[in-house]
Amino acid sequence: AAAVPPVRVRAEIDLAALRANVRAVRERVGPRVQVMAVVKADAYGHGAVRCARAARQAGATWLGTATPDEALVLRAAGDSGRLMCWLWTPGGPWREAVEADVDVSVSGLWALREAVAAARAVGRPARVHLKADTGLGRNGCQPGDWPELVDAARAAEADGTVRVTGLWSHFACADEPGHPSIDAQLTAFREMTGYATARGLTPEVRHIANSPATLTLPHAHFDLVRAGIAIYGISPSPELGVPADFGLRPVMTLTASLALVKRVPGGHGVSYGHHYTTPGETTLALVPAGYADGIPRHASGCGPVLVAGKWRTVAGRVAMDQFVVDLGGDSAEVGDEAVLFGPGDRGEPTAEDWANAVGTIAYEIVTRIGARVPRVYR
Ligand code: PLP
Repeated sequence: AAAVPPVRVRAEIDLAALRANVRAVRERVGPRVQVMAVVKADAYGHGAVRCARAARQAGATWLGTATPDEALVLRAAGDSGRLMCWLWTPGGPWREAVEADVDVSVSGLWALREAVAAARAVGRPARVHLKADTGLGRNGCQPGDWPELVDAARAAEADGTVRVTGLWSHFACADEPGHPSIDAQLTAFREMTGYATARGLTPEVRHIANSPATLTLPHAHFDLVRAGIAIYGISPSPELGVPADFGLRPVMTLTASLALVKRVPGGHGVSYGHHYTTPGETTLALVPAGYADGIPRHASGCGPVLVAGKWRTVAGRVAMDQFVVDLGGDSAEVGDEAVLFGPGDRGEPTAEDWANAVGTIAYEIVTRIGARVPRVYR
């Protein structure tokens, strides 16, 4: 591995692991199913441009983002492959997306009208994925409104302003094995896509699977899977297994350099509010990372950190830029490495361990690592 510059805090991004994860997903879905690497939210905090490039190298034929701005950043960085974005609002950059050959998601007539207007302005058809709400209850067209949307899309295809390239949906509970909504959503998806194709739409891809469905529901793969958390080497849910069960390896390692190590007497209050008091004379180490860097404040008193060969717990409150760990009778030097999380094979906690400690999901742990933290790629 390349030498890591001695900065305050850093997120090492193992692009070889990301490529291997994409290949593991490709192997799992087989050659007839395409893989969309989901790189929204700056690739779940890992850095969108670099991760997108690595995912392409490993055979992801599609990239997916939530916002159009995220998609346009990838185009500006030179990506020219199939790219889709799905979170639109009225007045969004529809023209820019059509111009940049970005596939857009349409959940209702208002969005179709925006796509058509953009296509007219740009002089080429908008590539549109019609989104069905098969039961998530979030974005997507309700089954009752689907015939009208399909007919409007057909009319737009006929006048050359739209090409319906995709029919798609999203699962609510794919990470809960056996949840009855999974089959209900699949049935609705087959009905809604079947209706659309019977009415003459000829999509290139039908897709509903996120990472949990990609990893555990082969009958939900259709033509393409949208894999996000899996390509970052994180299991979608502890209930489904650990990353290694799926041949995945965590991509992000978050480390910091100890900013101070000092002896203090017993009874010494630590950090704001004095929620921790040293039980006896001890050694405290200062980790220069805080909630401004995306370390959850809920990790106060419970977040795990590897320092001097052992797991320590955040002592007292996480502050904006720093927190403290109690090394007890152990010692460390200023500048020594503190590993907050990583793949776990050096004995460090994982992002899942942080999620457990603070009562969230590992998605949130990696995605919230802040812009102030440099990403170091290797
Ligand atoms: N598809 C859509 C529409 C999403 O919003 C997301 C992310 O939440 C994904 C796919 C990827 O999900 P996951 O990270 O579980 O693979």
